[in-house]
Amino acid sequence: MAFGSASFNALSRAFPSGKPGSRMFSFFRKKPVDEAPAAPSPERPRSPLDWLNADVGELLFGKKPSEPAATDAAAATPPAASPPSAAEPAPATKMPVAEEAAAAPSAERATWVAKLKSGLKRTGGAIADAFVGAEINDALYEDLEAALLQSDAGAEATRYLLDDLQMRVKRADVKDGASARRLLARCIADLLEPLERPLVIGEHAPTVIMVVGVNGAGKTTSVGKLARHLLDADQKVLLAAADTFRAAAREQLMAWAERAGADDGTSTSSKPIAGRIEIVSQQGGDPAGVTFDAVVAGKSRGCDVVIADTAGRLATQAHLMEELKKIKRVIGKAQAGAPHEVLLVIDGNTGQNALAQVKAFDEALELTGLVITKLDGTAKGGVLAAIALWSRARGKPVPVYFVGVGEKLADLQTFRAREFADALVS
Ligand code: GDP
Ligand code: GDP
Ligand code: MG
Repeated sequence: MAFGSASFNALSRAFPSGKPGSRMFSFFRKKPVDEAPAAPSPERPRSPLDWLNADVGELLFGKKPSEPAATDAAAATPPAASPPSAAEPAPATKMPVAEEAAAAPSAERATWVAKLKSGLKRTGGAIADAFVGAEINDALYEDLEAALLQSDAGAEATRYLLDDLQMRVKRADVKDGASARRLLARCIADLLEPLERPLVIGEHAPTVIMVVGVNGAGKTTSVGKLARHLLDADQKVLLAAADTFRAAAREQLMAWAERAGADDGTSTSSKPIAGRIEIVSQQGGDPAGVTFDAVVAGKSRGCDVVIADTAGRLATQAHLMEELKKIKRVIGKAQAGAPHEVLLVIDGNTGQNALAQVKAFDEALELTGLVITKLDGTAKGGVLAAIALWSRARGKPVPVYFVGVGEKLADLQTFRAREFADALVS
């Protein structure tokens, strides 16, 4: 299953009728309409947001498997804390069937993109303003430089983008600000594109995901949302509350699991929740031990996914980073080849420090993906350009699997480079 540039809402759609025959599935709609929904596609998977993007001329991948009734019902049940409003439909319930794909729409995407845009509006406003009525001259590039730096893109990525823009402006012989703005959006989208990759679930039994980051980044919330969407996709999920230091973290995880339709027990270390989601925890216990137990349990109980939610820490806290390394090692002891994913959750408001976080956590743990949260707030977004540029030098990009634009389940969405770029300059 690919979780990459797909909307979570698509998770359930990725499973037309329970689990696919093959254990590998994709959150992405596949181009060939007659292809079995779960079959792997040789081409780069496309996001379900693609079809939502019809209004901006994106490719349409219309295949949308019908959903199992059970999934519909589960998805239609709004999370306790987030009753869907007319403007914010519950995920998965609004997805049109294949024939309606072209008409699909916009309500959901508009809402989501609106949140992203509104979150990035300070940045976008400044960048867009630079183009208004502008001629293509040094003054424009100076204004853009200031706006991009202001957006947290950092000096290097700003330089890169401006060089690229200048080249494209010249090549296309663009004379007006509006056209140049569109070109900049393309520059940014192209730079970010390698970050738009799917999170694949289903290649391993179970797929083990380790989630790390600083305190308050949104790890637990994201794990809860992810679990919920996996549940909707009929995956058997086990959560490891490896944040054993804070009772609240475990409670929070459970709360999210409950929202996922689970019926959590009380405080036992490993209690089945509605037979679907389980949480392994041991307050005050050894995080590595809890995680080890969770992976072993996940294996023996035939879980599809085990997600370890770790305690927040700064990358500068050496002993705590050692602990993370140990958790990672121990996961590998419990299951050879695991963890399959090491995700860093970053608060989108972190600014340029986000890049420092990515580098440091990557150095310690070899990250496989990122989740950027709180892009609905005062986030500036430009740091993604900095991360993308760094990723190039790294050789292997660290994809942004998800972005968060709020605290509701539906607010965790897959990353779309083009969409993000548009939001950044509009
Ligand atoms: P952790 O310490 O990394 O586990 O962070 P939590 O998951 O506990 O989240 C910290 C706070 O950020 C909570 O109040 C969340 O509700 C909030 N939060 C998480 N993701 C988002 C998001 O995408 N947008 C907004 N506005 N708040 C978020
Ligand atoms: P070290 O013993 O501190 O060097 O760390 P290890 O990497 O060997 O194990 C770390 C943690 O993982 C331990 O505290 C155990 O709780 C857990 N662990 C590792 N191996 C096993 C095992 O074979 N069985 C169990 N139950 N736990 C294990
Ligand atoms: Mg937490």
